[in-house]
Amino acid sequence: MTEYGLVACFSCKTPKGVDLSRKTTECNGCGRRLEIASLRILARAASVAELQEALARHNEARARGAQEGALLESQVVPRRAPGPPRDLEAVVARVPPRGGEAARALALARGLTEHAGAFGEDRFVEALASLGIAAEKGPGFLRRFLEEGSVVEARPGRYRAVPA
Ligand SMILES: [Zn+2]
Repeated sequence: MTEYGLVACFSCKTPKGVDLSRKTTECNGCGRRLEIASLRILARAASVAELQEALARHNEARARGAQEGALLESQVVPRRAPGPPRDLEAVVARVPPRGGEAARALALARGLTEHAGAFGEDRFVEALASLGIAAEKGPGFLRRFLEEGSVVEARPGRYRAVPA
């Protein structure tokens, strides 16, 4: 398998994507002959597409004045934190950003009930996670709300929050 790497010219620092199985390459900036083995590999890539992505990120970082090695540890594109499911964005947005987790979870349950009349546990847990509350806590909150009577099981597996 061909492996690619992102290197930078030792002289002018111009970055370049190279095939790591090759011994030398020529700098696109100053035209010097570069010994690939002697250069620090700033990022590794398994495909030309990945390499281009790494190069683009490196150039962005350079433009921001970042250090040459800033991308060393960021070979993988960071995943965006999971947001709320599309149709629940508005429901999630109305949950107060402050307050205890239980109070926010209950506000969410009320929002979900308004939104669709009732909700399933999966939906609740999924939306909870997008509030930054650990998904594992979802079933516990739900049980607690059922015990308190702030949520009722309308039909098997479908829950409804009692209005405040
Ligand atoms: Zn150069």
